[in-house]
Amino acid sequence: MPPEDAYTATPFLPARGGLPALGKAAAACRGCPLHRDATQTVFGTGKATARVMLVGEQPGDQEDRQGTPFVGPAGHLLDRALADAGIDPAEAYLTNAVKHFKFTRAEPRKRRIHKAPTLREATACSPWLAAELKTVKPELLVVLGATAGKALLGASFRVTRVRGTLLEEEIHGRPQRLVATVHPSAVLRSDDREAAYQGLVSDLKTAARALE
Ligand code: SF4
Repeated sequence: MPPEDAYTATPFLPARGGLPALGKAAAACRGCPLHRDATQTVFGTGKATARVMLVGEQPGDQEDRQGTPFVGPAGHLLDRALADAGIDPAEAYLTNAVKHFKFTRAEPRKRRIHKAPTLREATACSPWLAAELKTVKPELLVVLGATAGKALLGASFRVTRVRGTLLEEEIHGRPQRLVATVHPSAVLRSDDREAAYQGLVSDLKTAARALE
């Protein structure tokens, strides 16, 4: 059976090593079918000593091409929102719940249109996120959107119910403080972009206060 049909990244995790070893191993992951069409694995970026870890959904088109998370339009908006909330993006570890871009090719110019990962794909990829959490041990987790929330907290997670509130949950057997908010791409899609942006900044300010 091809490894991607098993839908788990576990066999690809290195036995030891820090973030560099994890990133190198993730580059060769075939734990689910998403690696087939994507350009490359987009692993997390930031210091192992980061106090805050931000977790999004999956790489977008620009991230897939460049191999770095949050470098596209949503990433630029997130940088601005972090700065407005008083969080230095350089001091944060940025990653996604799913490490490969998922898309469909839309005619006539065959543009690559983002497609949300399934729960099965997110579950297959979750060992990488668990390893990042275990290595970085952030004081605070910022959950960006539903896919990240479900990957970390289970299928019943709803951003709208808990956004902007400092929570403490057990994640992978460890108590973890976290704040959930919307994914920055949801702000870009919003009919009232300014109001949605202010909502994101307000939630991130809760995160900033938790780090004081
Ligand atoms: S999405 Fe995750 S589990 Fe699937 S191939 Fe990529 S890194 Fe592996």
